[in-house]
Amino acid sequence: GRSVHQIQSGQVIVDLNSVVKELVENSLDAGATSIEVRFKNQGLDSVEVQDNGKGIAPEDFDTVALKHHTSKLSSYEDLTSLDTFGFRGEALSSLCALSKFQVLTARLDDGAVGKKLDFEVSGKLKATSVASAQKGTTVTVDELFYNLPVRRKELEKNIKREYGKVLSLLYAYACISVGVRFAVSNQMPKGKKVVAFSTKSNATTKENIVNVFGSKTLIALIKLDLHLDIEPSRGPNTQGARNWATQATDRSMEVRIEGHISKPVFGEGRQAPDRQMFFVNSRPCQLPQVSKAINEVYKSFNVSQSPFIFANLVMDTNAYDVNVSPDKRSIMLHDQAALLESLKTALTAMFEQTDH
Ligand code: ADP
Ligand code: MG
Repeated sequence: GRSVHQIQSGQVIVDLNSVVKELVENSLDAGATSIEVRFKNQGLDSVEVQDNGKGIAPEDFDTVALKHHTSKLSSYEDLTSLDTFGFRGEALSSLCALSKFQVLTARLDDGAVGKKLDFEVSGKLKATSVASAQKGTTVTVDELFYNLPVRRKELEKNIKREYGKVLSLLYAYACISVGVRFAVSNQMPKGKKVVAFSTKSNATTKENIVNVFGSKTLIALIKLDLHLDIEPSRGPNTQGARNWATQATDRSMEVRIEGHISKPVFGEGRQAPDRQMFFVNSRPCQLPQVSKAINEVYKSFNVSQSPFIFANLVMDTNAYDVNVSPDKRSIMLHDQAALLESLKTALTAMFEQTDH
């Protein structure tokens, strides 16, 4: 039968996307300036994430893959101002339960000596051995869900779509992570290694976008830089504090929306890909409400094509809630209605002033 650990792990690592998200976030948390993601068979056979970050300290080897062991959280207050992505200490532990999992790590002060770490399904450290390694950490996840036949079948069936979803997520991390080089590749069983995309560590977000989506985006995009001053709304529903969408903040709030979006032009040859990426304080997230609001502004300018949007909402951490449900990072914006109205007004004004 399935163990409790397995079942709980299956709620943290729900699909290929969550594997990649957790591993890339660990690499970013470790201060990496280079992250390589290598898929075999689109992730079905293997996902490997290699970084040049600070590595894992030998005194942490025993605990890194134990449930709720994290080196990142020092107090409860830290939860509200998350400087790091990780804080639950569940990803590595879950991956031990759901895949053939291995870690190779080398700290700079250990010199050239790397250590290979093998774990039991429970996350308990099984063995360490000396292995050659560069500075940083490489995490290998082979045969995801090998021990959960139903999930494994599902993954096999949907692997193309899953891989597509994963690439979209990696585009978002690669574009927003200024100062970090990303290199993503895939190797099919009988094919050769194919580079999916790569970015440079010394590039701007715009250069990252061009690297990922191609040089035609260069002429098709304009800079987005909106400063919104949002007055607290006092709608009839504001007492219903359970309803986050209408929950009002009592102070005015400032939101900056920065990034790159399609020029609002109608016609051929200047289209950017219809990709949309949203971030809150540089963290990739889903913001369908914001997407809808921006799309509406384009429609009002008679642009029929769905726009390219790369938008980072910079705002006070009091202005939103991060839903820390393990499988996703959904964001709940306080006073959302006022924010969306203000955004639409500002974007419309920007388009009216743009010479196109
Ligand atoms: P969390 O990220 O919530 O702390 P994880 O299970 O993702 O939990 O990771 C457990 C611990 O393993 C981290 O707190 C960190 O100390 C260490 N770790 C994981 N991945 C890396 C990495 N790529 N580089 C350095 N340390 C890592
Ligand atoms: Mg983590």
